[in-house]
Amino acid sequence: ATAVAAPLPVLGRDVTVPLVTGGEVTYAALDYAASAPALQRVWDDVAAYAPYYGSVHRGAGYLSQLSTDLFENARETVAGFLGCRDDDQVVFTRSTTDSLNLLAAALPAGSRVFVFETEHHASLLPWREADVTYLDAPRTPAQAVETLERALAAREPYGPALVCVTGASNVTGELWPVRELAAAAHAHGARIVLDAAQLAPHHPVSVTDLDVDWVAFSGHKLYAPFGSGVLAGRADWLREAEPYLAGGGASRRVSRRADGGVDVEWHDSAARHEAGSPNVIGAYAVASACKALTEAGFDTLVAREEHLIRTVREGLADVPEVRILSLFGDDAPRVGVLSFVVDGWNSSHFAAALSAEYGIGVRDGLFCAHPLLRTLLGSDPQAQGECGAPEAAPGEKSLNAVRVSFGAGTPDEHVERFVNAVR
Ligand code: PMP
Repeated sequence: ATAVAAPLPVLGRDVTVPLVTGGEVTYAALDYAASAPALQRVWDDVAAYAPYYGSVHRGAGYLSQLSTDLFENARETVAGFLGCRDDDQVVFTRSTTDSLNLLAAALPAGSRVFVFETEHHASLLPWREADVTYLDAPRTPAQAVETLERALAAREPYGPALVCVTGASNVTGELWPVRELAAAAHAHGARIVLDAAQLAPHHPVSVTDLDVDWVAFSGHKLYAPFGSGVLAGRADWLREAEPYLAGGGASRRVSRRADGGVDVEWHDSAARHEAGSPNVIGAYAVASACKALTEAGFDTLVAREEHLIRTVREGLADVPEVRILSLFGDDAPRVGVLSFVVDGWNSSHFAAALSAEYGIGVRDGLFCAHPLLRTLLGSDPQAQGECGAPEAAPGEKSLNAVRVSFGAGTPDEHVERFVNAVR
């Protein structure tokens, strides 16, 4: 076995859960792709700051000043973590979903959008009011680039155009050729936004190195608590757009007009899209997570995760009933996210059994990526809820899948327990 570093301490690592067979066991959180446990370090940083927090950008008191500094420093930390260019903006949002909806609201009039049908619904759906071209699922990374190039060329000439692509799939964990897709977009005069919800917790993401125009991610998948997200990138479209939310903090000057109406001058900075009292603790927690991951080093984190991925792949290689889902082929590079179906099992029952009998928390369903699941499973999922987990009739093709996912806080024992349970 390859020597790998110890996992990073996370919250919940000592939580025990009851088993249906009697007794209890420490919970194996293997659903990092949905929400990762917060790093202990992030929790400690937040706890140390909590007694001192105050309103930001709107208080004269010492703690308000301190909080304003910490909030703005958090923005700088995130900008550094994402390798932002000097004139990029970092907007604090609620989540990746919120970030992409903000960018959709900021699209210049008449924009064209290009998006693969394989995206998470958060990347697939916000653009519906623009002129969207949905691209068929590619079966290799090179085909993804060709498909995009062909679609961009076929629709020329156009004015403002945006490509939206995920860095790592929330279903297969596979890495997408972001740099090549960005080059293709730019060669045709389009811009590109990277959905890094699944990529940023596992790999370094630099907007400069990847040459993407924007990047979006969620704090709760990056080892910070819920409620905070980021949209970072080019300032121009953001600065020219109407504010995402209208309200205090976004407005620089508000006055009554002679005709009785109201004139507003909006801020040009990130504050333009952050109206209302911001989630200061959330931003601080995200910045703390960025620092912790940087200090741990992505080389170390990636090596450890590859060891865990190998444990799953090798452990299940001789179980013929298990089919791991992939678009790009079995050996495609991926992050620690794997979805699979098990012959003879309904995926929902399988996931429930992992929980009840082994204390393992995975996810089953369609992972908010219905078109992708339809392609991967070769069946029509007919989802019953937005991210639903429909029942398959006995003997029918799987209508959904099981997903196991892990990261910086995962001990070997969790993944070994999972492999043994599946076997
Ligand atoms: N994009 C991808 C690739 C995701 O995996 C997710 C979360 N499953 C999202 C976007 C949406 O993230 P959030 O729910 O935090 O807005």
